[in-house]
Amino acid sequence: MKPAPFDYCCPDSIDEAIEVLAANAGDAKLMAGGQSLTPMLNFRVVRPALIIDISRLLELEYVRERTDGGLTIGALTRHRILETSELVASRFPVIPETMVNVAHLAIRNRGTIGGSLSHADPAAELPMLTRLLDAQIVARSVRGERQIPADEFFVAPLTSALGDDEIVVRVELPGLPAGMGWCFQEFARRAGDFALAAVGVLLDVHDGTIREARVAMMGVGDTPLRRPEAEAALVGKSLSDGVVADAVRAACQTLEPNADLHASPEFRRHLAGVLMERTLRTAWQRAAGVKV
Ligand SMILES: Cc1cc2nc3c(=O)[nH]c(=O)nc-3n(C[C@H](O)[C@H](O)[C@H](O)COP(=O)(O)OP(=O)(O)OC[C@H]3O[C@@H](n4cnc5c(N)ncnc54)[C@H](O)[C@@H]3O)c2cc1C
Repeated sequence: MKPAPFDYCCPDSIDEAIEVLAANAGDAKLMAGGQSLTPMLNFRVVRPALIIDISRLLELEYVRERTDGGLTIGALTRHRILETSELVASRFPVIPETMVNVAHLAIRNRGTIGGSLSHADPAAELPMLTRLLDAQIVARSVRGERQIPADEFFVAPLTSALGDDEIVVRVELPGLPAGMGWCFQEFARRAGDFALAAVGVLLDVHDGTIREARVAMMGVGDTPLRRPEAEAALVGKSLSDGVVADAVRAACQTLEPNADLHASPEFRRHLAGVLMERTLRTAWQRAAGVKV
């Protein structure tokens, strides 16, 4: 199929894009890399009267250091940059480990962080990473700028907390404690497919005891998830087999994955548990300085 007819504009600045969006709120769609929007247009899942092409707004394409050891990432930063940037890898090694799983190289060359977060696919890697990393997503409109915590941003499948007149302009990632162990793993039927389930883990370990634990999952709920029950089961402990089993149980017993053509809820829950055990063990080793 081909898209329904639409008008097209290509603003020269973010301010112009925001004004055009406000004047057409509800009837317009932003286009960043077009990697999710184009299929939705072709299938006529969306029929906007106007496409606002922001793909050439270089002012939104950057990765900048924050003084707290974190990063500020512009909304038009491509997936491929997050996969290959040495600065990103030095501060958040879990990001490149995750990004190689996003679709295929051609899509990673075009797709953007702002587009992926706004699209809010519950099986997409970047939304899950923002939850794992306690990100703030910054949106701008003619009404001003606001920061939305990642844990409030993803509302339902393909639905975010963004208003019709808002553009994601950047993502703030606060710095992590030095030496934090990390790991991301997913299971997909073929390389490049959306994952059936995935888990990301961060462990801050001191003197053999977990001081902070973060566990995030995707593909097993309507939005990317954090598992606070599992995090509580890990803090103050050393990573024994029993602690792993308790944490996995705490994370998975309340999961309610959806059934679809690809997997049953039981299979997705099982995958989440297996992936969580593996990611916990790898993050623990990395926190101890082992190269895994
Ligand atoms: C075959 C295929 C496989 C894929 N596999 C995966 C996968 O395994 N994992 C994964 O995570 N993704 C996957 N994707 C999606 C891909 O990662 C996209 O790059 C991602 O969804 C974002 O696309 P985009 O940046 O091109 O945004 P677009 O497609 O241009 O836009 C997507 C949506 O976000 C809105 N939008 C875009 N930018 C902004 C902004 N700055 N502010 C507000 N709204 C905005 C648009 O209006 C639109 O509604 C796949 C895509 C394809 C085609």
